[in-house]
Amino acid sequence: MRNPLVKKPYYSLILPAYNEEQSIQETYLRLKDTMDQLARPYEIIFVNDGSHDMTHQLLNSLHELDSHVKVIHFSRNFGHQTAVTAGMAKCTGDYVAVLDADLQDPPEVLGAFFEKAESGYDVVYAVRTKRKEHLPKRLGYALFYRFLASISQTQIPLDSGDFCVMSRRVVVALNALPERNRFVRGLRSWVGYRQIGLEYERAGRYAGESKYPFAKLLKLAFDGIFSFSYVPLQLISVLGSVGMMAAVIGSVWAFYQRFFTPNYNAVPGFATTVILVMFIGGLQLFSLGIVGEYMRRMYDEIKARPQYIIESEVGF
Ligand code: UDP
Ligand code: MG
Repeated sequence: MRNPLVKKPYYSLILPAYNEEQSIQETYLRLKDTMDQLARPYEIIFVNDGSHDMTHQLLNSLHELDSHVKVIHFSRNFGHQTAVTAGMAKCTGDYVAVLDADLQDPPEVLGAFFEKAESGYDVVYAVRTKRKEHLPKRLGYALFYRFLASISQTQIPLDSGDFCVMSRRVVVALNALPERNRFVRGLRSWVGYRQIGLEYERAGRYAGESKYPFAKLLKLAFDGIFSFSYVPLQLISVLGSVGMMAAVIGSVWAFYQRFFTPNYNAVPGFATTVILVMFIGGLQLFSLGIVGEYMRRMYDEIKARPQYIIESEVGF
């Protein structure tokens, strides 16, 4: 039960953490410094996304030390986007910030973000000016955001991740979305209201390795594309129509060659035939794959499993 002497938080911070034992302590100290300066009641919600290291124990002891810290422990690793979702379901602040637990999103800029939000913006999203990561990753991100922006129905801002501050009504709107394969930064744009970007320099990871291997990044990218665009489906119809038209033109041409030219020879053209069969076969499988991506998501929604399972909660 809530202690009536503890004030309701005005600011909520949500930090998903997966095997972050090396960063947690430093992250907490820097957050505490920043939040104490803002002089309003606040809560720091860590979502332990099924860590196998000391993250669990470290977070619990942070709560023992400081009741601002609250912890949600997942029963296993459900993924970063799901952890953010769980934090949003639990937070009670008027303004809610989402940031990474590895100090790549520097806590010191939060003051400016909250101030901007309080001046009347519902979403203040962080736009990365610099990234301290290796070139292929930076290039991959830059290309992905531009590709997504060009095919997405919702306007999703370029180079902005999950790092943001949101007003309560945006959090309420997001919590009401039952979607399972969540691309939080896209849903956040979809909600609407007044949104604005603030630039910041994305720092390097404080300690440890990235918890986003290529497969997880790819899943995130696919969720972005297939949850916010029907262009891949339309592309299939376009490719199919072009293929059919080519086939009709080819048949007319072959018919003409066969009956109206004297030098018709049936044997050459074998290679063309094989290449065409393989190409069309590949195209069909590729198209099936795209349909499958949408179907997989539909299947997930129909199964209606909960998005995550909480093993225990501390401080709520
Ligand atoms: N994270 C998580 N679950 C996962 C993967 C990552 O909660 O399955 C957290 C991680 O602890 C960090 C944030 O999500 O706080 C961003 O992950 P990371 O820093 O590894 O990604 P990167 O910055 O390398 O893209
Ligand atoms: Mg990181």
